[in-house]
Amino acid sequence: MDFSLDEMQTIAVDGFQKFLQAEIKPIAEQYRDKYINTELAKEIQAKLAPFGVVNGFLPEELGGFDMDLVTQGMLMHELAKVSPDIAITTLIYFASGKMVAATPEPLRSKYLDKFLSCELIASVAISEPGTGSDISSASCRAKQDGDYFVINGEKMWISSGDYSDFMYVLVNVTEGDETGLAVFLVDRNEHGYETTNIDKTALNSQSTAQVFFDNCRVPKENMVAAPGKGLKMLLTLLQSSRPIVGLMSMGIAQAAFDEALQYALDRSQFGKPIAAKQIVQEKLAEMITKIEAGKLMAYRALDCIAKGKRSDIDAAMAKWYCTDMACEIVDEATKIHGGNGITREFPVEYMARAAKVFRVTEGTNEIQKLMIGRAITGLNAF
Ligand SMILES: Cc1cc2nc3c(=O)[nH]c(=O)nc-3n(C[C@H](O)[C@H](O)[C@H](O)COP(=O)(O)OP(=O)(O)OC[C@H]3O[C@@H](n4cnc5c(N)ncnc54)[C@H](O)[C@@H]3O)c2cc1C
Repeated sequence: MDFSLDEMQTIAVDGFQKFLQAEIKPIAEQYRDKYINTELAKEIQAKLAPFGVVNGFLPEELGGFDMDLVTQGMLMHELAKVSPDIAITTLIYFASGKMVAATPEPLRSKYLDKFLSCELIASVAISEPGTGSDISSASCRAKQDGDYFVINGEKMWISSGDYSDFMYVLVNVTEGDETGLAVFLVDRNEHGYETTNIDKTALNSQSTAQVFFDNCRVPKENMVAAPGKGLKMLLTLLQSSRPIVGLMSMGIAQAAFDEALQYALDRSQFGKPIAAKQIVQEKLAEMITKIEAGKLMAYRALDCIAKGKRSDIDAAMAKWYCTDMACEIVDEATKIHGGNGITREFPVEYMARAAKVFRVTEGTNEIQKLMIGRAITGLNAF
C-alpha cells in the first residue's frame, strides 16, 4: 500500500495546478454567481480536456488516456479548489462519458468524437420533481409506437441540462404487461426536449435544469438499457461519481482552509496574529486533518472501483464524510474571517454556499448513511 503520489500523478497535478491558476481562476472570479453560457462552457471544457480531467479515464481505443480513477479524482479536487461550478460541468462530462462508453454501436460513434472534443455536452437525467431519493419510482414514461418510443414527463435538477445536446434519460417503459426502467439517449435537435435553468443559492455559473419531454419520439435504437436494466446500469456506471464529489468538496474545503490560514496569519488582535491563538490553531489543525482524512477515504473508494472490488459502501462513506466535513470546514474558515467572512469581498462566503450543495447531489447524505447502515446490519431502513 503506497499513500504517496507516484511520479505521473505528481506531474499531472503540478501541471494542472499551474494551468488552473493561469487560465481558469480568472474566469471563475469573473463568473462567480454569473451564468457561463453554453459556448463558453464548451470552450472551458475543451481547454481542460488535454489534462485528462474531462474524459481521461476512457480507454485509448475510445479516445481517452487510460487514466486511473484516483488521478482523475485528484484533478477534479484541484479543479473544484479553483471553481466548484466549472468542476460540476466537468463531473457531468465524466459521468456522461461513462454512459457514452457503454452506448452500443453504431449509436456511440455518432456522438463520440464531438463529445470528446467538447463540441457536444451530454447530461444524465434521473431525478424528477416527484422522484428524488427513491429513483426507482420514475414517472417519466415511454410508450412504444412501431419503431419509436414516445417519451412524456419531466426531469429535475439536471446538471448541464440547459447546455446539453443530448441526454441519457431514465424512463419507465411498458411493454405488454411488463413495466421496467430503461435508459434512452435523447437528442435535443433530432428528438426535441425543452430545458429551463433553476436559480440556486450557489453554483449558478453552471446549468442545473428542469427538462420537459412532450411526445418526444425516439427511435428504438436509442434505447441504451432495456426495461428492467436501466437503474442497475446507471447505479453501476455512476458509482465513481460519489467519491469524486467527495474530492470536489474537499477541494472547496482546501480552498477555504488556504484562505483562513492566510487570513489568520495576516490579522492581528491582542497584539499578535490570530494564527498564534490556541483556539484558532485548533480550528486550523482540525480543518486540515479532516481534509486529509476525507481525501484518503475518497482515494480508497476510487481505487476499489478501479480494481473492480465491492465499493458501494466505501463510495457512500467517502461521499457523506467529505461533503459534510466540507460544510464544517468552510464554516470554521468563515468564523476565522470574523465579520469579513460574511461579506462578498472574501471568497469564503461563496464557498460556504457552494459546499452545501454537494450534500444533496449524487444521493443525499442521509441516503448514503442508509446504504452503510443496511450493509452493517443487514436490515433495510429505506
Ligand atoms: C445542484 C444539483 C445537481 C444535480 N444534478 C443531477 C443530475 O445531473 N441528474 C440527476 O438525475 N439528478 C441530479 N440532482 C438531483 C439529486 O440527485 C437529488 O436532489 C437528490 O437525489 C435528492 O432528491 P430530492 O432533492 O428530491 O430530495 P428528496 O428525495 O425529496 O429528499 C428530501 C429529504 O428527505 C430525505 N430522505 C428521503 N428519503 C429518505 C429515507 N428513506 N430515509 C431518510 N431520509 C430520507 C433526504 O435525505 C432529504 O434530506 C442534482 C441536485 C442538485 C441540487
